[in-house]
Amino acid sequence: MKITFYRDRCIGCNYCVEAWPERWQMSKRDGKCVLIGGKKKGKLYHAEAGEFEREYNERAAQACPVDAIRINK
Ligand code: SF4
Repeated sequence: MKITFYRDRCIGCNYCVEAWPERWQMSKRDGKCVLIGGKKKGKLYHAEAGEFEREYNERAAQACPVDAIRINK
């Protein structure tokens, strides 16, 4: 599965971290979250994850109030 993260939209609410802390972490530097294992491309971050993570990352995406997390179908 693929995860896309629009980091500039992040408001640091922590919901994604609560949903799946194996993949999402808060940054102490700027108060936004970090996509663990993500590679930066322009303003976006991309990560490949195992299918077993799908459910948790979808929960993180649904919880995000600013629609900063996208999961491929
Ligand atoms: S749920 Fe969205 S806004 Fe909140 S910390 Fe995660 S990416 Fe940022």
